[in-house]
Amino acid sequence: MAEKRDYYEVLGVSKTATDEEIKKAYRKLAKKYHPDANPDNKKEAEAKFKEVNEAYETLSDKQKRATYDQFGANGPQGFGGAGNGYYSYSTSGFDGFDIDLDDIVSSIFGGGRRRTSRASNGPSKGADLRHDVEITFEEAFLGVRKQINISREDICDVCHGSGAKPGSKVDTCSVCNGTGQIRQVQTTLFGQMQTSRTCTNCGGTGKVIREVCEKCRGKGRIKKQSRITISIPAGIEDGQTVVLRDEGAPGQNGGPKGDLYIVVHIKHHPIYIRKDEHVLCDIPVTVTQATLGAEIEVPMVDGTKEKFKIPEGTQTGTKFRIKQKGFTSINRNYRGDFIFTVIVQTPKRLSKEQRDLFEKLAKTMNEQPPVRRKGIFG
Ligand SMILES: [Zn+2]
Ligand SMILES: [Zn+2]
Repeated sequence: MAEKRDYYEVLGVSKTATDEEIKKAYRKLAKKYHPDANPDNKKEAEAKFKEVNEAYETLSDKQKRATYDQFGANGPQGFGGAGNGYYSYSTSGFDGFDIDLDDIVSSIFGGGRRRTSRASNGPSKGADLRHDVEITFEEAFLGVRKQINISREDICDVCHGSGAKPGSKVDTCSVCNGTGQIRQVQTTLFGQMQTSRTCTNCGGTGKVIREVCEKCRGKGRIKKQSRITISIPAGIEDGQTVVLRDEGAPGQNGGPKGDLYIVVHIKHHPIYIRKDEHVLCDIPVTVTQATLGAEIEVPMVDGTKEKFKIPEGTQTGTKFRIKQKGFTSINRNYRGDFIFTVIVQTPKRLSKEQRDLFEKLAKTMNEQPPVRRKGIFG
């Protein structure tokens, strides 16, 4: 993420600026950079406009401003950031910042931050949805396609979203004349401002239904169970998100659908542990294998076995590495290693023959094993 400019610098005010000064600076800059006012360099204006809005959103809120003054834009919980462990499945990039002059006005005068009152019967994007899935360690390693069932709203198939009983009459709202909004002229400290609010008679739709659709009871949408196939890429980490564009809730008035965020959780594995892109595990070997050296079979996460020669005189706790048999990185062209730790198993039960052999061996070694006293007696 690019380094963020200081919010005070963005608005061109001092750190001790009053709320009024901040408001005034914001108002001026929002007008200046509004993309509609900059048809020749819309992209640049859009970026500036976004920056100005972000700065204002923080500095106009007492608590957010105090946190910002103390920790900066990314602390303490990194508000404003995309969050970590975020993996975007789609590469559609910049979504096009949704701009509405009414929003600016309402965010200044309405007191309600965030677009609580989208006073318009124009199209708007549907809500984003979240769904959690749990997959196994092996599935995360190899990647997996999963079918999930989600319950989400969809356009009613009887009235096609109108909310009216098919064939019944729909009137234009007489209060707002079908615009869905009531315009008002207010006198403010910046002069006369025209603001608008949602028409309460029609709820902003501009239409009044005489007979409601029986299936959706006039809402125009119904809850539906949907079965979706999702593709989880190999190498995904616990807590990462796969985004499915346009699989969220339907938009208002013909607006685009929201997105579906699939949060992936990975089950604990009894043998393997993931560390970054590496796979770690313990491999038990016998005393004789460790002493004489041996070719052992190491079980890989994908179910195959890898032959590996451990050398003569291997100590318990020794780590060995099999290159590039770990996780595939999602973001980089890189594969981690498989790292195993040898655990020498001391036999607990011996046959008569084994016992005799060990005793013979003990005689040839002719001594007690050296005891490490360091740490006990200083
Ligand atoms: Zn309906
Ligand atoms: Zn109305």
